[in-house]
Amino acid sequence: MTERIYYTDAYCTEFDAAVTALAELDGRPALILDRSAFYPTSGGQPYDTGALGDYAVVDVVAADGAVYHILDRAADPALVGQTIHGRIDWPRRHDHMQQHSGQHLISQVFHQLFGFETVSVHFGADESTLDLDAAEVTPEQLDQAELLANDLVIRAIPIKTYFVGDAEIDQVPLRRPPKVSGQIRIVEIAGVDWSACGGTHVRTTAEIGAIKFTRQQRMRGQARITFLCGRRALLDYRLKHRLITEAAALYSTDIAQIPELIARDQALNKELQHRVDELQTALLAYEAEDLRQQGAQSGGCIVVAHAYAGRDAAALRTLASQLIADAHAVALLGSAQGDKVTVIFARGEQAPLHAGNLLRASLQRFGGGGGGRPDFAQGGGIAPDRLADLITYAAEQAAAELASKEAS
Ligand SMILES: [Zn+2]
Repeated sequence: MTERIYYTDAYCTEFDAAVTALAELDGRPALILDRSAFYPTSGGQPYDTGALGDYAVVDVVAADGAVYHILDRAADPALVGQTIHGRIDWPRRHDHMQQHSGQHLISQVFHQLFGFETVSVHFGADESTLDLDAAEVTPEQLDQAELLANDLVIRAIPIKTYFVGDAEIDQVPLRRPPKVSGQIRIVEIAGVDWSACGGTHVRTTAEIGAIKFTRQQRMRGQARITFLCGRRALLDYRLKHRLITEAAALYSTDIAQIPELIARDQALNKELQHRVDELQTALLAYEAEDLRQQGAQSGGCIVVAHAYAGRDAAALRTLASQLIADAHAVALLGSAQGDKVTVIFARGEQAPLHAGNLLRASLQRFGGGGGGRPDFAQGGGIAPDRLADLITYAAEQAAAELASKEAS
């Protein structure tokens, strides 16, 4: 058994203890002491870090009544029976104490105001969450709970811990029934909240600092509330204030105007995109006309063959469609965008050529794949530097086929 100093003194940051054993936990070297201020992960609260003598404590685990201090390296066996000095990373621990004490307060407030019970909690490195047995918490309820929690912070209510036996536990108005029996540790926010808890807590609610809810999510029929306490809330406010101020500067406006201006810009963007699409279609019609004029005549048809660089598949498809508006046109187009090659073959209604077959045969010859309908086909998969040769090859094939069909 390791005596837990943090049960009675959560503010003990340095201590001396006797090394009772060297141990190993999941292949990691550990030390066991007769007493310890190091908090092992439990009840949702993460472990402490710090140092034991010259060794860094990288994790702390409770098992079989003992506290395992996981070290950065194997300990000297001569340490057993010796006294060692322990020092915990106080900023890390105090942060956990703020989040954990804040959670008790938040849970009590939701319980008091709306009867929502806290079913689980999680304390993360950046943010913490608690799950409420409520299908949904309205924004108004969130605001009300956040306000009351912060009011209770301002009142600097003492937070006490004490042990109560099974016989007297009924006298304690616990928010939730205890999960353990025997001597039960009670954490009381004086006159406000009673919880059975083995964690570390601050001395008064004032030390929790500001409490801010940052998100609500629905999780399996429950509401998950993400919250920040103390320094975390301040740092979050600082970051968000900086970002929103930067955004306001970009708009040369007051921060209150930002949502409206973003909505205005989004509407404008949509309208402009629509205009661009219209103009592009009109431009492609001119380009198609131009290409047809320059196209090669063969068997009464016009073959337009062209390899582009950097043109996307959608633009290529539109151009092909414009070209074959002429019933005697054949469009053999390709584009390389980075490593990606798109090839589109199409033909007008009167052109006696199977675009899909020609595409398949051409791509097969140059190491790609694809195919399609007699009038419109798309493929790719060839190396960009082979595109020009593929288009030239396809143009020759098309010209020969169209000429032979007219002759017959
Ligand atoms: Zn607690």
